[in-house]
Amino acid sequence: MKILANDGISKSGIIALEDAGFEVITTKVAQEQVANYINANDVKVILVRSATKVCKDIIDACPGLKIIGRGGVGMDNIDVEYAREKSIHVINTPASSSDSVAELVFAHLFTGVRFLYDSNRNMPLEGDTNFEGLKKAYANGIELRGKTLGIIGFGRIGRSVARVALGLGMKVIAADKFVGSAEIKVDFYNGQFINVDIVTEPLEDLFKHADFITLHVPAQDGGYVLGKEQFDALKDGVGIVNASRGGVINEVELIDALDSGKVAFAGLDVFETEPTPAVQILMHPKISLTPHIGAATLEAQDRIGTELADQISSLLKTEK
Ligand code: NAD
Repeated sequence: MKILANDGISKSGIIALEDAGFEVITTKVAQEQVANYINANDVKVILVRSATKVCKDIIDACPGLKIIGRGGVGMDNIDVEYAREKSIHVINTPASSSDSVAELVFAHLFTGVRFLYDSNRNMPLEGDTNFEGLKKAYANGIELRGKTLGIIGFGRIGRSVARVALGLGMKVIAADKFVGSAEIKVDFYNGQFINVDIVTEPLEDLFKHADFITLHVPAQDGGYVLGKEQFDALKDGVGIVNASRGGVINEVELIDALDSGKVAFAGLDVFETEPTPAVQILMHPKISLTPHIGAATLEAQDRIGTELADQISSLLKTEK
């Protein structure tokens, strides 16, 4: 049985699928040719990331399709309801990249507290002529240990972030629309672990107490999670990271808050106007920037591949 991995799949995913008896095709088929290719090659499973769209027209044109798989979380590029109405399985791997996103959050936090966002811009320009000046400019860094991290959205990624923060010796507080509490298991390399219970609290309390805030909510139907009113309620000099979805922070208000000093720095992996972020955001001297790479680690790609392979094998185990 043939599987078309149109947006690529990790080597370990290919091996897991081949070991389970599937033939994996990794040719990149152009969007307008996908339906033809599926039918001409009798493909039963199409795997995508975010690039290939599997819309109603492809679903209608390909009656032999049994599974649509998305490596990762969001399924905006798949007509999920329509596919399920047509008895096509739609699967994804929501937990595979949580730890990768969590580590990127700390990359931005460590960058923020030691001014790396600025130092990395200025060292190439002035590092040889103004070393002492830059040394002075970046001298007053602070440590994360002992500080309070406020996590907004205490789902899969929020809890992964909590694990890392606890390991670092941070105080963790969290707010969530639906989650009341969670047991966070902090694993150590040698098999030892500790469990820490965290009870969520109202957003207003989190705003009052957090030294750093990180957002892990889905795209919101109406309004910003952080807009003018919320920025006003934050501690002075707070650091903010957003590696969830563009549009949950009002970027105009963020820039105002950075310029006034209310917010000391921000780390952004996602943007309101992705994939063309506002130039005021890109050029801002107090923002650490990454181009939506939260999930993009080799380990996550491996987990995505093997998780998809496991799900496909169990769904189609009788019909290879
Ligand atoms: P999840 O569904 O496990 O958790 C989201 C949590 O947010 C839920 O517990 C929900 O109750 C809570 N929530 C929703 N709206 C809220 C609000 N207004 N205030 C407080 N809590 C709220 O999702 P997840 O897997 O943890 O993913 C979180 C976000 O990260 C998603 O937006 C996802 O698209 C994004 N993400 C980004 C990357 C990246 O590359 N940067 C990678 C993977 C996921």
